[in-house]
Order: sequence, then structure tokens, then C-alpha cells
Amino acid sequence: METKRVLKPKPMGWRRAIRRYLGVNPIRSGIQAAFLMLILWIGVEFHDFLEFHRHASPEDVLAGDGPMRPPGVEGFLPISGLIGLKDWIIRGALNDVHPAAVVLLLLFVALSWMLRKSFCSWICPVGALSEYLWKLGRFLFGRTLSPWRWLDISLRSLKYLLMFFFLYAVLWSMDGASIRSFIESPYNRVADVKMYDFFARISAFAAKALLVLALLSVLIKNFWCRYLCPYGALLGLFSRLSPTAIRRDPASCIECGKCAVACPSGLPVDCSVVVRSAECTGCLDCITVCPVTPALQVRTSSLGQTHSIPAFAAAVVLVFLLGVGLARITGHWQNSVTAEEYRYRLKEIDSPLYTHPGGRVAHGASE
Ligand code: SF4
Ligand code: SF4
Repeated sequence: METKRVLKPKPMGWRRAIRRYLGVNPIRSGIQAAFLMLILWIGVEFHDFLEFHRHASPEDVLAGDGPMRPPGVEGFLPISGLIGLKDWIIRGALNDVHPAAVVLLLLFVALSWMLRKSFCSWICPVGALSEYLWKLGRFLFGRTLSPWRWLDISLRSLKYLLMFFFLYAVLWSMDGASIRSFIESPYNRVADVKMYDFFARISAFAAKALLVLALLSVLIKNFWCRYLCPYGALLGLFSRLSPTAIRRDPASCIECGKCAVACPSGLPVDCSVVVRSAECTGCLDCITVCPVTPALQVRTSSLGQTHSIPAFAAAVVLVFLLGVGLARITGHWQNSVTAEEYRYRLKEIDSPLYTHPGGRVAHGASE
């Protein structure tokens, strides 16, 4: 029986590590870094908005020159997005508390259907940080750990369990009245502040949990994305329906195994004809390392079209920009929670008896 030669990763110096990081797919590395910068900028804008309304005098507020709230923060509210989506289906109207959360959820679902789970490897800031961490681990130790197959499959099911829990809790258990009640609840109206404070005023327990996740991400490729992220699990299901997939041409493939070694999701690309796995994030690293140009391609079967890496990258960015642009033009982006309400709710949150979602008791009263 013919055996395939599988390339094993070798220990590397820092020059080779930098070259390898930038060299594998520099277009994706650049776009991923640009989206991470965008998220950091949104975080800084939101921080300024909250600081202004936490500390500004009534005269400053009346002058009306305070910072604006960036609606993009709602990308961090997937539960509000899911609840808002059900509300939209029931009422036929998009809620005005967190409309951008619904828009972004739908946009990323559509992107996953069109271009596989490209949100995870091109746009998501958590995906970018996960990748930086395992690449750091590979640089430090020369390799990352691969759990035994039975353990890997068992752990991968965790994210689907979490996803089904959220889908059951929202789509099945909540009726129209409880959906409306949640959307208009004081908690949800400033869920963006709660999410920000979870990280900015992080509890000791949450900080330790994040540290453990970060350490595991250094040792195991994409630990969070691969095993725990319910959002990625949901997008993966839609990506299974995608007409776009990585295709290997067995006739021109020289069976070098480089694609399988490069695949961050550990997929056996070198043994597949079409990669349909929900774990494929459309990162295109496999195509980048393939030494035989026509052997591995990304193709949309419904269009009969093969895409180059720059064309795929442009499509990911274009779909994102068109989705956000359309939401802005049609008034489905900005929320209707007023600055006065934010100031009022911030006073509540900062009062001595308030309990933060992370478990830390701040300085004040409950809702
Ligand atoms: S199969 Fe290719 S595109 Fe899909 S995750 Fe693996 S390396 Fe990325
Ligand atoms: S598809 Fe390309 S990288 Fe993968 S085994 Fe064949 S020749 Fe090697």
C-alpha cells in the first residue's frame, strides 16, 4: 500500500517565525490585523463615551459636544442579536435598542453561507488573538499540542452543546412577550456597558478564567474557537450549506501533505477532494502553501467560479462593508437609547450595591 509523506513541524527561530507568520498568507494577516485595529478603535471610542457620561458635568452635557457611541460595540452582544432576530421575525420590525447586534449576526451568518466561516479567520478579533497566541506557542516551543483524536472530537462537541443551549433558551423557550420584555429590560438596554465593564472592571475569577484560556490557546491551536465558541459553531452550521469550498484536484496533487500541516483546523485537506467541514474557516492557508498551483483551489460551485486569494479577501471585506453600509443608510444601525438614559443607567451601575455580571460588587444599588 502506498504511504503518504507527512511533513512534521520543526522548531524555528524568531526570524523564521516572523517570516512564517507573514509569509503564509500576508493578505489575510493584514486584513485580520486591520479588523483588530478597528475593534480596538471602537473600544476606545466606547470607553471615551462612557467616561464622558460617567464624569461630565451637566453643563458639558448641555453643550452637546460629548463623544458619540460607536454602534459597532453591539458586535459583542450576540445574545441580544439572537433575541432581536426572533423579535424581528415575530413583529416584523427591527428593535431599536440594539439593532446593530441583529444586523451583524445576520451579516456574519450570510458571510458564512457565502464564503465559509471566513468571519472567524478574517474578521473576528477573538480569532485573531487566538491565532497570535498559538503562533507565539509555536515560536516558543517549536510546536503546538494536538489532543488525541477521541479527546479532540469530544471537546469539539462542547461548542455545539453551548450553541444548542442558547438556541433552545432563545428560539424555543422564550415567547414573544418575554422576548419584548427582555429587549426593553434595563439590563439589555445597556448590555453594551455591562459587556464593557465585564472586561474593564474584571473580577478576579473572570481574570483567572481568561488567563487559563490564554495559556491553553498558547499550547493548543485556536483552543477557544475550536472547542468553546458557540458563535463559531452556529456559523459553522451555515458554512456547511455554502456553495464555496476548498477543492483538491487529485490528478495534479503530489501528495506532499503541506496543506494538512498548514491547516489551523487540523483538517485532512490532503486526503479530501472537497473540504466541507464546519471547522473550515476559509483561511486559505492550505492554498497558500500548496506547491502545485492548480492542485488546491477555492471554488463557488453555483457560480462555476474559482477565486484567487486576493479576490476571496476582497469579497470578505466587500460583504462586510456592504452589510454595514446598507444598515446605516436604511436606519438599522444606530440605537435609540438616549445619552440621558445612559447617564442614568451608569449612575445605577456605579452605585455601591450594584453587582456586576462578572460577580464583582461595585460601589452601589441594584436595578
Ligand atoms: S481547509 Fe484550508 S481554508 Fe479550510 S481551515 Fe484548513 S487551511 Fe483554512
Ligand atoms: S493539495 Fe497541494 S499541498 Fe496538499 S498534498 Fe496536494 S500538492 Fe501538497
